[in-house]
Amino acid sequence: MACLVRNRPLYLALITKRCCHTAVAKSPVVTQPLNFLDGQRVEPVNNDKQQQFPLIYPATGEVLKTVQSSGASDLDNAMAAARRAQKQWAGMSGFERGQVLKRAADLCRVKQEELARAETLDTGKPIWEARFDIQGCADSVEYYGGLASTISGEFLQLSGGNFAYTIREPLGVVGGIGAWNYPFQMATWKSAPALACGNAFVFKPSQMTPLTAVMLGEIYKEAGLPDGCYNVVQGEAQTGQLLCNHPAVDKMTFTGSVPVGSKVMEACAKDIKHVTLELGGKSPLIIFEDCHLDNAVTGAMLANFLTQGQVCSNGTRVFVQKKIMKQFLEKLVERTRKMKIGDPFAEETTVGATISREQADKVLRYVDIAKKEGATVLCGGEEVTPEPRFSGGQFVSPCVISNCQDDMTFVKDEIFGSVLSVLEFDTEEEVITRANNTEFGLAGGVFTKDLCRAHRVIAQMEAGSLYVNNYNVYPVGVPFGGYKKSGIGRENGPESIEYYTQVKSVYVEMNDVEAPF
Ligand code: NAD
Repeated sequence: MACLVRNRPLYLALITKRCCHTAVAKSPVVTQPLNFLDGQRVEPVNNDKQQQFPLIYPATGEVLKTVQSSGASDLDNAMAAARRAQKQWAGMSGFERGQVLKRAADLCRVKQEELARAETLDTGKPIWEARFDIQGCADSVEYYGGLASTISGEFLQLSGGNFAYTIREPLGVVGGIGAWNYPFQMATWKSAPALACGNAFVFKPSQMTPLTAVMLGEIYKEAGLPDGCYNVVQGEAQTGQLLCNHPAVDKMTFTGSVPVGSKVMEACAKDIKHVTLELGGKSPLIIFEDCHLDNAVTGAMLANFLTQGQVCSNGTRVFVQKKIMKQFLEKLVERTRKMKIGDPFAEETTVGATISREQADKVLRYVDIAKKEGATVLCGGEEVTPEPRFSGGQFVSPCVISNCQDDMTFVKDEIFGSVLSVLEFDTEEEVITRANNTEFGLAGGVFTKDLCRAHRVIAQMEAGSLYVNNYNVYPVGVPFGGYKKSGIGRENGPESIEYYTQVKSVYVEMNDVEAPF
């Protein structure tokens, strides 16, 4: 031990390895109430024992606490607080609202480590990825802080000295529902533009990842956001439905799967509520023979293996031109095998835990289907226990599958795990048709040194977020969202403002009124 203490870096590394998840798991971040109403953490009023769910650390399977779902009364309380606060918030200038958001962004940066640790505990993703995510979220909050003072209407000069103007007004109370893969991002990407526009916000995070949305509430409060403008209700599907159906909600913004997105839209249709949807994908990544091969291999890995492959925009259908297939596969498999599966809190880990037993089983089932359908598993796709202390968790090794055909089940379905399918192609024309042959349209990418070809191909791809010679980068200010069944609306850019406001047109007559009667 003494020698370890002298060897400080090694000692720290071991301490970190042993204590990190335990320290976070016992911290107030977990033990305190997880609803956030009217500026405070509160326990739900609902005490129906049938409506509880466990918060589980994906790497060990440890139940960290039992969370009570929010019921109708909790939703009523959240809506009452939001309605009350919204008027005051909307009455402030865009500049003032922006100041609050910018302070919140700074606080996200100050609390980056605390937030990242909570995010890793919730999701099982590697800690460095969580830190990176939080940094991007802080940037996004700051970005909307900047945009807040620019939200305005227009002036239109008309004939006869008459004129019209438009006022861009908030919608009122926005309800948000998130998925579990990027919990803090869901909370910030939705709340920051909603708040910038003068709305109040009520968010239901995924039941798998309840921690960081509440922490965001405390950050907003510390930054000066009036109580009630940002609220969090925890719960499962039932709470989500209560939120969508609540009469005080003016708009729903949802991130999740296509089937649930469809239910959210249906619920909103009844009362003609505004709705935006960020849904699933099965995106194509096209690698031409004239690419920079090492960059393309890196791109394919970025397109498939971040956050254990649980990324909606992943380029899981990797089309590779025939001539470079052999070299591409050799390099890809060699590098994929070197990925380090292990403790999500260890700095060297590149593959953390899959979110749940159910999700891991789904991924493994699809790998089995791939084998049965005649494809070749080149590496991974197996359950791994990186250390005995993780025997209760679920880790799946990143998987590369070749000899794939477009009509194979695992090539068509969204798996939401690290399963990369490689498909061979000959010509540009052929690959564009094949790439677009899907019900989804979230993202896509092209690797080539020929920029004319890159832009020609991109112009024909049916997807909302496209990449040339990189993949899965989300710079602040660049809109993100899907075509086809991948969604409606855009997040993370100026476009977002349109989805959180409505336009009032005002005509002003400067002359005596004339009429033909
Ligand atoms: P999911 O659709 O199962 O759940 C999403 C959220 O909806 C959760 O909070 C859940 O509690 C809630 N919910 C479930 N049933 C509901 C109902 N009937 N009414 C209202 N709410 C309900 O999705 P998931 O498993 O959490 O996430 C994975 C999916 O999310 C994948 O399909 C992925 O592609 C998608 N996703 C999309 C994006 C994007 O930006 N396009 C980002 C991340 C994830």
